[in-house]
Amino acid sequence: MEYAIFIEIALKFLKERRDKMTREEKMKIYRRRQAVLLICIGAVLVTLIALLIIIFVSKDSEPIKSTSEASQSTVQSDESSEEIPVDGGNSNLQGSIYFKEKQITIKVGESYTAEVVNETGSGGGYIWESSNSSVATVDGGIITGQSLGSCDITVKISATDKSAQLRVYVESGDTDSEHEVIEEDGLTYIDGILIANKTYSLPADYDPGASEEALEAFSEMAADAAAEGLDIYISSGYRSYYDQERIYNNYVAQDGQEVADTYSSRPGHSDHQTGLAFDLNSIDDSFGYTPESDWVAANAHRYGFIIRFPEGKEEYTGYQYEPWHIRYLGIDKATEVYESGLSLEEFLGIDSEYKD
Ligand SMILES: [Zn+2]
Repeated sequence: MEYAIFIEIALKFLKERRDKMTREEKMKIYRRRQAVLLICIGAVLVTLIALLIIIFVSKDSEPIKSTSEASQSTVQSDESSEEIPVDGGNSNLQGSIYFKEKQITIKVGESYTAEVVNETGSGGGYIWESSNSSVATVDGGIITGQSLGSCDITVKISATDKSAQLRVYVESGDTDSEHEVIEEDGLTYIDGILIANKTYSLPADYDPGASEEALEAFSEMAADAAAEGLDIYISSGYRSYYDQERIYNNYVAQDGQEVADTYSSRPGHSDHQTGLAFDLNSIDDSFGYTPESDWVAANAHRYGFIIRFPEGKEEYTGYQYEPWHIRYLGIDKATEVYESGLSLEEFLGIDSEYKD
């Protein structure tokens, strides 16, 4: 109550004072208030701008984890591209770290000293890691092949998220000359395997028909697949030199020779002319998305077959990925090739390229 009276008296005093003020005095007070208001607005704006700058700077310097993971997986999957720097996004270090080679092939027991290009300006210690030490080990940048297969070697600058990956393929310890090569009547057998690819050809008159042994192995495989509710069948088997000549010429007329060579063999160079190769089911990419394809990929070696043109091995086999094309090698050899993770060309240390 006393407060109310006090406020009432104060207000009355102010009102009387204001009534007594001249117009000029009132304007002076008004201007002063305006100036204070402008200063306040100015101060708020300056604070806001400062805050925005701080937010921007700190955002840049934060390591962005998802980005670094994404770029690493790109490096793994995209083998055709040139050296891709793996940028961890750490603002403390500008530039990137990468391997001079994007992939290497070494033999079992052989060592390779990794060449790292470090543009980050950091001399900090490297941390080395192998995705599969039973295939290749790494010690201070020295990579040593342990067994057939492939794995990834990762180098990381310690205390940062800067890293790079190198794909390592490990082949059999045999040197190429140690593979047994037998040439007989125009046929080439390497370690007992009859080879028909872009490098090795078969004579036009080599006309063995489909191998009985391979057909029997296939029947057994198809029966076991059927027991699991899967339907696999041969859509294209043996092809003579002249069958292949007709097919290949049609593809050349349709797509041109350069394109045709990526998926169809020139006469004399077809795996089908060996009588040991079969194309399954739809004979196209759609097969790769069926449960039958998954089953064949996981089990064919147990019956003596390999996927002749595996995914990602075009540069060795000379052909696109063909999940439907299987090749009979016998159970022992097929299992060895399957477990190596290598294409037949890599396994035997041969290439597949037309000479002209
Ligand atoms: Zn085929």
